[in-house]
Amino acid sequence: MPNVAGVVRPDRERDPLAGLDPEQRAAAGAPRGPVCVLAGAGTGKTRTITHRIAHLVRAGHVSANQVLAVTFTARAAGELRDRLRRLGVEGAQARTFHAAALRQLRYFWPRVVGDTPWELLDHKIRLVGRAAATLDLPTEVEVVRDLAGEIEWAKASLVGPEDYPAVAARRGRDVGHPAEKVAELYRTYERAKNDRRLLDFDDLLLHTTAAVEEHRSVADEFRERYRCFVVDEYQDVTPAQQRLLDAWLGGRDDVTVVGDANQTIYSFGGASPRPLLDFTRRYPDATVVRLERDYRSSPQVVALANRVIGAARGRPAGSRLTLVGQRPDGPEPAFSEHPDEEAEAAAVAARVDELIGAGTDAGEIAVLFRVNAQSEAYEKALSERDVPYVVRGGERFFARTEIRRAMAALRTAAARPEEGSAPASGAGEGDGLVRVVREVLSREGLTARAPSGGAARERWNGLRALLDLAEDLAATSDNATLARYVAELEQRASAQHPPEVGGVTLASLHAAKGLEWDAVFLVGLADGTVPIQHADTDEAIEEERRLFYVGVTRAREHLSLSWSLARTPGRRAHRRRSRFLQGLVPDDHPASRVRGRRGGGAPKPVCRVCGAPLLSTMDVKLGRCGRCPADVDTDLLARLQEWRRERARELNVPPFVVFTDATLSAIAEQRPTDESALVSIAGIGATKVERFGGEVLAVVRSSPDQGDTSVGR
Ligand code: ATP
Ligand code: MG
Repeated sequence: MPNVAGVVRPDRERDPLAGLDPEQRAAAGAPRGPVCVLAGAGTGKTRTITHRIAHLVRAGHVSANQVLAVTFTARAAGELRDRLRRLGVEGAQARTFHAAALRQLRYFWPRVVGDTPWELLDHKIRLVGRAAATLDLPTEVEVVRDLAGEIEWAKASLVGPEDYPAVAARRGRDVGHPAEKVAELYRTYERAKNDRRLLDFDDLLLHTTAAVEEHRSVADEFRERYRCFVVDEYQDVTPAQQRLLDAWLGGRDDVTVVGDANQTIYSFGGASPRPLLDFTRRYPDATVVRLERDYRSSPQVVALANRVIGAARGRPAGSRLTLVGQRPDGPEPAFSEHPDEEAEAAAVAARVDELIGAGTDAGEIAVLFRVNAQSEAYEKALSERDVPYVVRGGERFFARTEIRRAMAALRTAAARPEEGSAPASGAGEGDGLVRVVREVLSREGLTARAPSGGAARERWNGLRALLDLAEDLAATSDNATLARYVAELEQRASAQHPPEVGGVTLASLHAAKGLEWDAVFLVGLADGTVPIQHADTDEAIEEERRLFYVGVTRAREHLSLSWSLARTPGRRAHRRRSRFLQGLVPDDHPASRVRGRRGGGAPKPVCRVCGAPLLSTMDVKLGRCGRCPADVDTDLLARLQEWRRERARELNVPPFVVFTDATLSAIAEQRPTDESALVSIAGIGATKVERFGGEVLAVVRSSPDQGDTSVGR
């Protein structure tokens, strides 16, 4: 394993603890040993760990090259690397779990396996499809994708084919095929993969873990090399990743974890916030810090975020804290409803254009959606307005022809001794680097001014991003040579971490985790998209809610939330806005007006989720139509029933005289927080409120997940 000497630039930043608030400082400045930061979005978790690394290195507790920081997406790992470099820490590893495992496996493989070569299997769909065909399972792409996802879940959960049927039954997994059959598919796929000497992404974790666990010399060398571990976004750790982390630690406890259980968005893939929430049980001496100050977003965005997550249920919700916005006031979040997706995209593009015109940098704007297929409408609408954009998630930057050519040219230049080595100091090695890179790139088509629009503009943006990276390196690093720059490019290419390409970011909500922009557009917020159609259990809906929360909390200042009623122009407007917007869209918003109410007379009761008229008495009581999914808090319902039983006994009346079943269900579903919310529930009049209101509200408020958490001191 290459042993890059760790370098700290003392001039880069004063004391790394100086730019932190007291709680952040407590975590960052804690002595070596277990540290857990459990906090909401934008509270500075990532900032805390980067400053902690800088502090430990600066204070001489550990050398930078003994630090391994891991996270979950290539983008987030890149963000960690960038922030560390800005703090003057060089040589610390910041990678995704998979990238770290890949690197270690390549290094240790000859020792543990010998010279049998292997290759990485990028996508398992084809191999799973072939295995499905031999087992008479359907081979349509959607089915195979689901089955491949299930195999991934099993591997991430450390469940082998033999155990799969039992575990799948216990966990209520259902992919529409008998578990025995799925297990057979899993076994067949594994065999086919091994026969071809292929490793899939899940294998990287499993094999690396095995290498460290089972080979003493590997473990010794690894543990000598890495001594300090940091995990960002720890709420999304899978059992396979946790096992690898444990193997790395080998019983040591120099581990800092940070996360937010309310941002758990990969449970469907086997991730669980449990290790985060149970951290102190495992390390009773851990330093635990909770952060509440939100440094990222305006108070208006923070208020909305608090309301979104305030509606969450389940164990992760137990760890939530109310965020307190620290930034100056900003505009209220904007809500808009559109007839169809095209109109929505056009309106968003127009608003983006307006923001850019008013001085917001295009790179500080993001359009976030639930599924990648939604991207296209926005690519089109932004192109029509000549607004540059970058699509995240695909990360195909380094595969682009002009980038490959430019890199080849830069590599050639770096190989020439007079350009590749470090220029003398003084006039600035960085200046020298930027000059050489500009010369090389101008031969590849980088002009001083950007061409307008289309493919030429996109090519130009790519080359310009390479030059920006050189400027960035020159400004932040001591030895900014061309060779060093090319090495950085190679590293980014292998980590799929493209440089910032000036333009509006188009990304999925999943890919946006950990990132932030001045202006964020959350689009396509219709039921069936957010939450996604196939989220059909309470847990799945909660995960979708957390994903929505991740989206809301990406915005610093401008936040726009929009949805459309039909997919394409002229189609029937059968969509409804996302149920997560319930209670968020202001009452005086045009989209909040009761649809279909005409003329005078008493307002007809309508579904509070979709706005459709309510016809049956039960629906009227619940305040929602039968087509909209129930959102009853079953624990609360049980407690309400218990309360009603006791009250009825005291009053010596049948329970329904206190409240009917339908009314109790409606309370458990709507969770009123004050008397006005209570009285708005059908079946509860002024008399009932007067007699029972206080008690009912107390039962609602006593919800155990307000205080259910095992972390904290
Ligand atoms: P997420 O949960 O979304 O990953 P996070 O908790 O990791 O969020 P950071 O990204 O570290 O939050 O911080 C959010 C923003 O607030 C960043 O721009 C960061 O620089 C800034 N910030 C954090 N702490 C402070 C502080 N003490 N003073 C000033 N700015 C801060
Ligand atoms: Mg973060």
